[in-house]
Amino acid sequence: MNPPSAPPIPFFTQASSFERCWPEISRHLNALLDRGKYSHGRQVVELEGVLADYTGAAHVLAVNSGTDALTLLLRAAGVRRGDEVVVPAFSFVATASSVSLALATPAFADIDPESYALDPESAEAAVTDRTAAIMPTHLFWQMADMTGIGEVAARHDLALVEDSAEAIGMRWDGTHAGLLGKGGVLSFFPTKTLGALGDAGAILTNDPTVAELAGTLRHHGRMGRTTDHIAGISNLSGASGTNSKMDDVQACVLMGKLPHLDDDIARRAQLAEAYTERLSGVPGVLRLPSLAKREVRTDPVFYVYVIEVERREELVGHLTRQGIGTEVYYPTPLHLQPCFAHLGHRRGDFPNAEAACERTLALPFHHDLDEDTVDRVCEAIRTFYAGSRA
Ligand SMILES: *Cc1c(COP(=O)(O)O)cnc(C)c1O
Repeated sequence: MNPPSAPPIPFFTQASSFERCWPEISRHLNALLDRGKYSHGRQVVELEGVLADYTGAAHVLAVNSGTDALTLLLRAAGVRRGDEVVVPAFSFVATASSVSLALATPAFADIDPESYALDPESAEAAVTDRTAAIMPTHLFWQMADMTGIGEVAARHDLALVEDSAEAIGMRWDGTHAGLLGKGGVLSFFPTKTLGALGDAGAILTNDPTVAELAGTLRHHGRMGRTTDHIAGISNLSGASGTNSKMDDVQACVLMGKLPHLDDDIARRAQLAEAYTERLSGVPGVLRLPSLAKREVRTDPVFYVYVIEVERREELVGHLTRQGIGTEVYYPTPLHLQPCFAHLGHRRGDFPNAEAACERTLALPFHHDLDEDTVDRVCEAIRTFYAGSRA
């Protein structure tokens, strides 16, 4: 039992991670204050360079969020008004809302229950003569089946774009997530593996045309250094650009944290292992994270630690009463979200996505967690199921 005085365990915090990186962050902030250009200035350009080194991308475009990164990427990859884009029914809402924002329609498909990512067979079944692109999501700790999805894209001549918002550090046969097709994105939302002090994101691509178009769109459709704004370029959906520029303050934070990223990723792998060891065989815990078998080497990165459980809401109540924070990623499948009701889907259309929404639970997870805390969380889960079975 936990002593009544045990401190609460938040689902997420990055306080001590900031403390550790503060000398580097403040060096970049001082340079920013000296220079005084606070939006899309020199620090943003520097960040794009270090992210290109880290990921191996030929082009990195820093923007203000992962959601805008997805929307601009889809537009720059040639998705146009009225097109369809195949996306998984189990993901963060931005995977599908970015398609709507690019004036196209999401075409949902089911997931593979082990990787929680787009299932190639279901994706192929969603292809119609209006499909322009296919966009798998790499969720939680591993990448989608990029061989199977790549084959579907090739067979139907679809642009392959990746929602790699959660996937910094994940690699497929040595290639960083987001770089297996036309391009991908990163999100630096504070809870992400590399989190900023607010919203931020980036587009990754090896395609110079995609990079040029996305770069134009993020800055009011401005072309290079001119003050002309593009008007109805025929291969863009929507005539105008927008303001999706990144703030230099976020670039300073991210540059200060990036040198620690690989250590953080290694630490997260240890914590995931600690959870898995302690939760193995606990009755009521239906599934622990596993890696889908792939024919190439993949480098998993734990962004969150997600398990599947029986009687989830009761367990959440029990943990909350002990001061333990949890999250549900994601409570509603995308095909049943009110914003996509006009597409006419029903419960039962994508059973694996629906089951994942009902059973998954994310446990406290961040690189400042220690193993005693992991013990406490696992003990609380064990006690809940033991008590309710006695
Ligand atoms: C976080 C996330 C996004 C969106 O990123 P924001 O930076 O929050 O806009 C998109 N897709 C997935 C799968 C995500 O996890």
